Amino acid sequence: MSVLLTVENLNVSYGAIKAVQDVNFVVNNNEIVSLIGANGAGKTTILRTISGLENPTKGRILFENQNLLTMNSERIVSSGVAQVPEGRRVFSGMTVQENLQLGAFTRSKGINLKDEYALIYDQFPILKERRNQDAATLSGGEQQMLAMGRALMAQPKLLLLDEPSMGLAPLFIEKIFDIIKNVNAQGMTVLVIEQNANQALKIADRGYVLESGKITMTGTGADLLASDDVRKAYLGG
Ligand code: ATP
Repeated sequence: MSVLLTVENLNVSYGAIKAVQDVNFVVNNNEIVSLIGANGAGKTTILRTISGLENPTKGRILFENQNLLTMNSERIVSSGVAQVPEGRRVFSGMTVQENLQLGAFTRSKGINLKDEYALIYDQFPILKERRNQDAATLSGGEQQMLAMGRALMAQPKLLLLDEPSMGLAPLFIEKIFDIIKNVNAQGMTVLVIEQNANQALKIADRGYVLESGKITMTGTGADLLASDDVRKAYLGG
């Protein structure tokens, strides 16, 4: 299996707070890797550092042998890394399709995006139905789909998902994780961070457990789901 992303000895601080300490992990091509951990464990900080939004105090992040730490966030997107931020953040006052269009901003301007929209609408039929609606009128689950669709418009090689289940009803959570599996089955490599350990590990090829900024366990999704330590700490016993 070939490695797509390598995070090496990563350390990130906010002033005196050491949010991420000596973190090492890899994401191989075509995998779903889940990084699970409680509130405040440092998950979002890791994703934001990969996307170029935070500066580490130490460490390396290699994506296809390029060092992402030398690039700004726009170049990181162009090189093939797209992030779906926590809390979805769709743009209100713009239609669903205009939101999707924004996802293609790093690709050549003025290109006809008809085929790209069609691909997204195949994956998310509800977005096609609502394409001319203001994005703010979508339900939470639909907004999560739009945020994912927007990231996919950049045609990334690696999709970063920040807590896709947050704030969604159980039925929508199932649906979002089904979609993540689908997108992965079509060849997309996915790194997902989640507090919902159960769902995130169910779909994961491999997972990592993050506690207070450090990785404390790793294994296949199935192994972690079956682990007593993970069950006690994250799955209610
Ligand atoms: P959550 O699930 O709440 O998003 P998380 O695992 O993603 O949690 P982070 O948001 O990465 O965790 O936060 C890690 C630590 O860094 C926490 O102690 C948090 O309070 C702190 N932190 C995060 N962002 C900042 C910031 N901008 N300034 C100061 N401290 C921060």
